[in-house]
Amino acid sequence: MEFAKIFFPILPIDPNFQANRFPIAYNTLKVWKNASSTLGIYGTDVAVDFDSCIGDGACVEVCPVNVFDWYGCGADRKALPVRESDCIYCFGCEAVCPKFAIRVTKQQT
Ligand code: SF4
Repeated sequence: MEFAKIFFPILPIDPNFQANRFPIAYNTLKVWKNASSTLGIYGTDVAVDFDSCIGDGACVEVCPVNVFDWYGCGADRKALPVRESDCIYCFGCEAVCPKFAIRVTKQQT
């Protein structure tokens, strides 16, 4: 097993990330950081923890409204929820993510 996986295991996204982290702006999205995050959580309503995302593309393939673009390439690619405002809250991306790296929050209207 890789050294990094022994000492820095991949964790699921923190469901309370908005309370436990602070946001910084990234284009039209927010990136939620804290002292232990390396990359951070990208997006708010459709939030992807880049420190957990393995870039397998399951969320990109399942999303019926094309919320995600790729950020980066190759082994380091991540699913960026660049069109999170288009989300129809099917929760498909949450369901298929093998690392539980995505949290979708339906806004109250
Ligand atoms: S909840 Fe459904 S519509 Fe929203 S980003 Fe995930 S897969 Fe796409």
